[in-house]
Amino acid sequence: MHIVVLSRNSKLYSTSRLVEAIEEAGHEATVLDHLKCDIVSEKDNPCIYYRGTRVAGVDAVIPRIGASVTFYGSAVVRQFEMMKIFTAVESQALVRSRDKLRSLQLMAREGVGMPKTVFTNYSTEVRKIIDSVGGPPLIVKLLEGTQGVGVVLAPTFKAAESIIQAFHSMKARVIVQEFIEEAKGEDIRAFVVDGEVVGAMKRKGVEGEFRSNIHRGGTGELIKLTDEERRAALIAASAMGLSVAGVDMLQSQRGPLVLEVNSSPGLEGIESATGKNIAGRIISFVERKAEEMKDSPNKT
Ligand code: ADP
Ligand code: GLU
Repeated sequence: MHIVVLSRNSKLYSTSRLVEAIEEAGHEATVLDHLKCDIVSEKDNPCIYYRGTRVAGVDAVIPRIGASVTFYGSAVVRQFEMMKIFTAVESQALVRSRDKLRSLQLMAREGVGMPKTVFTNYSTEVRKIIDSVGGPPLIVKLLEGTQGVGVVLAPTFKAAESIIQAFHSMKARVIVQEFIEEAKGEDIRAFVVDGEVVGAMKRKGVEGEFRSNIHRGGTGELIKLTDEERRAALIAASAMGLSVAGVDMLQSQRGPLVLEVNSSPGLEGIESATGKNIAGRIISFVERKAEEMKDSPNKT
């Protein structure tokens, strides 16, 4: 098979691990930068040009699309779908996963536990918003932030009020969320591939930091999930329509609370924490799906 990894940089750990796993499985791997793909639409003849050459003979695509290029990246993924090529992340699921509000709405409908969250269109009723998540301390998050940037802990009513007002005055959209204190600056990342949790780690923030993101200096260690946590991760991934997903959860007194589902989850932290070949698991899944699609190309 010929499997394309859509990535801006072939030297990134996750990208190079996927390439390695593709080659280990005896397939051919190509890394294409989605921003260098030209999308050609024409009646019954969807195609992609890469640096002037038509992309052909591809059996499957593994998108690794960064949050800052979701619009164009998802359009390239959609074009591969138009060409009836299997993609490990569907374009619609990719777009959905980049919208925290939409993600929370869909997961809440499927019964996924989450911190109570309020979203408002710049309401001036700040006191009501603060009250509805149980008062301070609370969390204010930029709707489109990633890697922990734009996640603020407001310890008091006054702080919460000024943070919300400041974001609103900048026309920045935020969600206001109940602070889960008992999570103690730790969260869980469950890596889901095709309806199965293939690895999980606990991430701890650096001393004095409530955010456990690896990008904020956090560290990951192997953890065994409870049945409830495993179930929450699987329901969250399926509510988002993602076959490959990194589900972030907080451990609380009322069980696991999902924060977000990542559609391009990094492999470095999870592979080193678990010692597992997660890239290999992704490739086995892609292999199987691409075969199925070849057998019945009209089923997408
Ligand atoms: P990002 O998408 O930027 O990573 P998250 O929503 O995952 O934003 O938040 C970053 C980190 O902040 C989380 O990994 C978690 O450790 C902490 N955190 C986020 N929301 C809460 C919350 N409601 N209560 C307690 N800690 C939180
Ligand atoms: N139509 C799907 C649903 O209702 C997807 C909606 C969405 O992604 O916002 O579940």
